[in-house]
Amino acid sequence: MADGAMGTMLFEAGLVFGDPPEAWNVAHPDRVRAVHRGYLDAGSKLILTNTFGGNRFRLGLHSLQSRVNELNRTAAIILRAEVDAAGTGALVVGDIGPSGEILAPLGTLEYADAADGFAEQTAALAAGGVDAIWIETMSALEEMQAAVEGARQAAPDIPIIATMTFDTRGHTMMGVSPEQAVKALAGLGAAAVGGNCGNGPDEILAVIKKMRAADPNAILVAKSNAGMPELVNGKAVYKAKPEAMADYAAQIRDAGARVIGACCGSTPAHLKAMADVLLSA
Ligand SMILES: [Zn+2]
Repeated sequence: MADGAMGTMLFEAGLVFGDPPEAWNVAHPDRVRAVHRGYLDAGSKLILTNTFGGNRFRLGLHSLQSRVNELNRTAAIILRAEVDAAGTGALVVGDIGPSGEILAPLGTLEYADAADGFAEQTAALAAGGVDAIWIETMSALEEMQAAVEGARQAAPDIPIIATMTFDTRGHTMMGVSPEQAVKALAGLGAAAVGGNCGNGPDEILAVIKKMRAADPNAILVAKSNAGMPELVNGKAVYKAKPEAMADYAAQIRDAGARVIGACCGSTPAHLKAMADVLLSA
């Protein structure tokens, strides 16, 4: 069992929308650790660092590109401390999200620069002691490939989990189908592949079923948002109750997912309900 949301939990803890969550690894490590602890207590065995936007491209939007090493390494160190304190043998997993840019020739980010940026982030996470890397919420295969290649350069032996977001009529925003994704990501040598984020359990359940049919041998992973995001006063809110996420956990396990967690809007209460289902069977 993986963990749940970090970003929406930090907003609840006072993070201002638009501010970089990664800065809190240094400014408010106690609040980041409290989120990790919530998921460890819920039963999560695979916990992600607070580094989703920790690449030089996204940190650069806040003029923090010179702090990639510090913010990622610190994130890994504080998560390792929390995992060791819990003593449950959970894995410390370095979280890598998209650059926020579109690769050339469609966009302006060159492939080699993207790979270099992801290598820089991976090196910092590895220096902080992560057990694995999870590259998530990708919508373009080229960028996923750049991220995997960069991670490999920086940490050749580290296991890589790779997930994309299928939030556009069953495809990623860039038009990748679940069948294309599972073949491409397994081809890149990812240890486990799947989907995360998006429009809730029904969407990701369909994704996992398609991936399972396309590749019966892949180790599949799923991290669904806590329901379909709804706009309330200009903010995305997620309304799925813990019981609904427990149902999702059982269904997606039966569909073939081996690593199961949750994404935006989920809380330790959701993960606890999921653990009650997943870890009891
Ligand atoms: Zn999400």
